[in-house]
Amino acid sequence: MKLAVYPGSFDPVTNGHLDILKRASRHFDKVIVAILRNPEKKAFFSVEERVGMLTAATKSMRNVLVDSFDGLLVHYAKKKGAAAIIRGLRAVSDFDVEFQMALFNRRMAENIETFFMMTDYKYAYLSSSLAKQIARLGGDVRGLVPPIVERYLKKKKGRKSL
Ligand code: ADP
Repeated sequence: MKLAVYPGSFDPVTNGHLDILKRASRHFDKVIVAILRNPEKKAFFSVEERVGMLTAATKSMRNVLVDSFDGLLVHYAKKKGAAAIIRGLRAVSDFDVEFQMALFNRRMAENIETFFMMTDYKYAYLSSSLAKQIARLGGDVRGLVPPIVERYLKKKKGRKSL
């Protein structure tokens, strides 16, 4: 069975992430979306909230699972028996960091291949930060994030500043 891990912060998941996920899931038997528990990076949504949003947004994708992990990605991927790591690419600015990460991951686990997937042009400018910023300023995030995330963003906006 060919298993892939799609790691990231997903704070929150956007339609750009979902597009990558949908396309990736056609090429692997199973894809695990893995949310990094990163104590160094201050997240807006808790890991539990992010798991909840991703689970709802991927309900119709039968071979997609949602999980979280901490520590090294390659350790997690090995533990799960993954053959591949999926990453999405938008602008050239993504390239440097992704290149470095992919080479390091290969050095640590040469049997796990990183696959880069090009964003759909509709989402080339889209990031989780942008969606949060638009929501904070009272803009419409419809079409940028799944409906469940729209609701979470509205709920949070009512309670505290984004
Ligand atoms: P990270 O903090 O690890 O970059 P993100 O949640 O921002 O986590 O992104 C996870 C993955 O999804 C990364 O590979 C990122 O490049 C990709 N990604 C993010 N937004 C988009 C988008 N709009 N289109 C395609 N890929 C995207």
